[in-house]
Amino acid sequence: MERRHNKEDHRVLRARMAEDNASRTTLSFYKYVHLENPTLTRNELYAAWEQLGVLGRTYVASEGINAQISVPTDRFDALKAHLDSLGWLPNLRLNVAVEQGKSFFKLIVRVKEKIVADGLSDDMFDVTDCGEHLKADQFNALTDREDTVLIDMRNAYESEVGHFEGAICPDVNTFREEIALVEDMLQEKKDANIVMYCTGGIRCEKASAYLKHKGFPNVHQLEGGIIEYTRQAKESGIRNKFVGKNFVFDERLAERITNDVIAQCHTCGTSCDEHVNCANPMCNVLMIQCQSCGDALKQTCSEACKAFIGLPEEEQKAKRKGAKARGGFMTTGKSLRPSAAPTSRTRQ
Ligand SMILES: [Zn+2]
Ligand SMILES: [Zn+2]
Repeated sequence: MERRHNKEDHRVLRARMAEDNASRTTLSFYKYVHLENPTLTRNELYAAWEQLGVLGRTYVASEGINAQISVPTDRFDALKAHLDSLGWLPNLRLNVAVEQGKSFFKLIVRVKEKIVADGLSDDMFDVTDCGEHLKADQFNALTDREDTVLIDMRNAYESEVGHFEGAICPDVNTFREEIALVEDMLQEKKDANIVMYCTGGIRCEKASAYLKHKGFPNVHQLEGGIIEYTRQAKESGIRNKFVGKNFVFDERLAERITNDVIAQCHTCGTSCDEHVNCANPMCNVLMIQCQSCGDALKQTCSEACKAFIGLPEEEQKAKRKGAKARGGFMTTGKSLRPSAAPTSRTRQ
């Protein structure tokens, strides 16, 4: 039964969701915890969540769980009770999305080798021996200091539309590259106060444990990432040092934190921070594109892709046969440097 559900066409599910006006809550959580039998856990979660009307994407591995889901708002408490009942998720923090919206169209719970692809070998270090967690006010105090190194642990296509003031935003497109680059970059500053952040905290959990293992003594991480920081900043009324949009991995693509638009259209360079996928299914590259370039290129990334979708349906079909979409991300190719935020002070 679950199989059939998963196999329904994305467009059908999208259309169904568009008609569904029931209020849903988008949330994410993760936990590094040793799971004996990830497949069994996967099956239990799928069965329970399907009953609760949960949608979204969850990875289960022997190292833990990483979930990005939405739940009918009136079943939020039931979901919480279910998670509590599992026993292996004590003191779990649920990161509730800043901006709600149609985030997911189907339920996927998948067994993976890792909950975040990091390219690191498991037995090298202890993930639970991670950096010091910072709450929003502690984060502000520490990053206000000149001798603190603030690093965005996300990919370039994420930091491009929004990041913390004064953060170093490495020009990388995978977490694996990010860790290697950061370790390299910080060799000269081993004793500095290092502060890392990511979307919800999961990547910093691992990266900070890795850096500690490599002999960096003062590693800190933003607790719950940008999502939890924004919630805390709002609640306590402290200054929000994040500028622009928080990129998220669901249909919404981003949550707006401030009205600053810090990115540019990849085609014409005009100020824009709207991510879209190229309309050529063979390409599907994720890019930032302004309205007028989108109109001119028929929502594709290039003249070549525009030409492709102009071909007769049969010809397109023949060319697509057996081929996989190129995918990936288009970035401006900015090099590693302190990012330029409207009000940032730059750092070396
Ligand atoms: Zn443009
Ligand atoms: Zn394209």
